[in-house]
Amino acid sequence: MGLLTEGTPLTWEETKNLAQHVREHGIIQFINIYRKLKERKGDVLKWGDEIEYVIVKFKDETKEAKVSLRAEDLLSILNKKEQDDPDGVKSLWRPEFAAYMIEGTPGKPYGGTLAHFNVVESNMKMRRKEASELLKPDESIMSITNFPRLGCPNFTDPPTKPSPEGDGSKSLFFPDEAVFSGHPRFMNLVRNIRKRRGEQVAINLPIFRDKNTKIPVDDSHKIRKAAKPDCVYLDAMGFGMGCCCLQLTFQACNIEEARVLYDQLTPLSPIMLAFTAASPAYRGFLTDVDCRWNVISGSVDCRTEEERGLKPLKENKFVIKKSRYDSIDSYLSAQGEKYNDIEILYNEEDYRKLRDNGIDHLLAQHIAHLFIRDTVSLFSEKINQNDEEDTDHFENIQSTNWQTMRFKPPPPHSTIGWRVEFRACEAQVTDFENAAIVCFIVLVTRVILSYQLNFLIPISKVDENLQNAQKRNACKEQKFWFRKDITTDVSPPEANRCCAGASCEPKDCDLVGLMTVNEVINGKPGVFPGLIPLVNSYLNGMDVDADTHCTIQQYLKFIQKRASGEILTAASFIRKFVTEHPDYKHDSVVSDIINYDLLKRLKDIEEGTKPCPELLGGTTMSKTKENIPHALKNDY
Ligand code: GLU
Ligand code: MG
Repeated sequence: MGLLTEGTPLTWEETKNLAQHVREHGIIQFINIYRKLKERKGDVLKWGDEIEYVIVKFKDETKEAKVSLRAEDLLSILNKKEQDDPDGVKSLWRPEFAAYMIEGTPGKPYGGTLAHFNVVESNMKMRRKEASELLKPDESIMSITNFPRLGCPNFTDPPTKPSPEGDGSKSLFFPDEAVFSGHPRFMNLVRNIRKRRGEQVAINLPIFRDKNTKIPVDDSHKIRKAAKPDCVYLDAMGFGMGCCCLQLTFQACNIEEARVLYDQLTPLSPIMLAFTAASPAYRGFLTDVDCRWNVISGSVDCRTEEERGLKPLKENKFVIKKSRYDSIDSYLSAQGEKYNDIEILYNEEDYRKLRDNGIDHLLAQHIAHLFIRDTVSLFSEKINQNDEEDTDHFENIQSTNWQTMRFKPPPPHSTIGWRVEFRACEAQVTDFENAAIVCFIVLVTRVILSYQLNFLIPISKVDENLQNAQKRNACKEQKFWFRKDITTDVSPPEANRCCAGASCEPKDCDLVGLMTVNEVINGKPGVFPGLIPLVNSYLNGMDVDADTHCTIQQYLKFIQKRASGEILTAASFIRKFVTEHPDYKHDSVVSDIINYDLLKRLKDIEEGTKPCPELLGGTTMSKTKENIPHALKNDY
């Protein structure tokens, strides 16, 4: 979720009064970082993954599954290990928003050698095992994107009750005890987002309509005017930030390469969201969406009514189209500039200051745009800073802009270079799937850089794709805007005409076409070569040992099959499991027993005790190694 500063949180009133202070100093801090590090070069490719997990408790006697609120217990042990031997640990553990979540990363980043692909999965397994060893016999660490009965009565262990009249979430469903309390940041965000917005957050997910589905879904609409009767109503940050994802971070060789990667991966974010779709059930109901994205977006939407365009602007400066958790609004590379076709809001004085300090238009507008958001979490110890050395005010705003991509400057006084984070993917059930996806995306970045490919499409089209990506069965059924000619930077005149404004007609033009996930990944004859064929041709030119080759091929085969629809996304698998369960009443309800059986089934799949060709295909788990053989020198 981002960085954790120590200390005492300020009240919302105090935080609000210091918003301008944070903005001013955050911008200065970025200018200082940029001045010192813009010329930094010669960094090598390094990368790492992040996986978030839910701690699940199985109650076999009553056939119920709960989220176990034991993240703090686990983290205190895991973090002690890290403190005792910071260089020796093979994984790093961090708190996440919920008291039932933990986040794990490899202890050290991977490097630019193909042989690293052979250790990704074993590191994920090792990580899972390390955390699992601290669990009670009836608990399990699960990399599921959403706990299907999150927010249902008694969904936590120990049992807790929501406090609609309290000072925290004020949720009808999500208890404050389910928010991680080992650090004040999380509850502080909950409060401040609610206070800034001026009311509860509200998410209405269309219910999946089966033949016995009841409308209204429940009584929420009688209690809250924001609740829509035909939707599953969610009213707390925890419904979103309590979901899990799979993220990737890349270190680029310099700032220019980081900008290129940021841009080129942007059009892939909706494709990979649809491909990794894993969250069809919310608060005990099947919904008509397959992904968490809009749920999290709504769950941290701190915009006031004025900013949401519901009231004329008086107190606030802008009507803002998106939440602070959303898709990016602009490309950063020179190549990307002409595809920046949506409104990019910023304070003129912030932009000016950045420009006056030698920062180019694209980067200045990006940073100034991030800073239209006020701080929603400030600690008393961090108010006054040395802008030459500290970067907390910059990071404060940067780390609470949760977007599909993140452009990350090097931390001060570190050996780390300019980085880019790919944030769209949903967490997959098995380490095999997570490893396959991670390796695939890393390979795609190598293909982009070595063949100098161009995937850019107008950013408005990326936004459209991101919405379509979340629809039920999108991976198989939806079509997405994708660039047809990826080998050229020069777009034909018709394409320029077509894409000059925000209003491209929804038909094929020479630059972009509508493609399915299958066509993007496996290719569309005569139109688009496909990401897998591109990766394969890249790999053909590489010297790779037989074992690594075999691992990579298994991963690629899995990606190919899922994209073609031969195997299911986790979202489709979950839907199928629920609707075929003997206890299912065709009423969209994921009952306790269905939830229990489903999670048990997913646990068995993860542990490999019961094969699941529907989800994983015929692919067997790859033979993974613990260590990279030093003799291998196939750098890429
Ligand atoms: N859990 C959030 C998600 O699913 C991400 C939080 C983070 O930035 O680490 O997207
Ligand atoms: Mg996280």
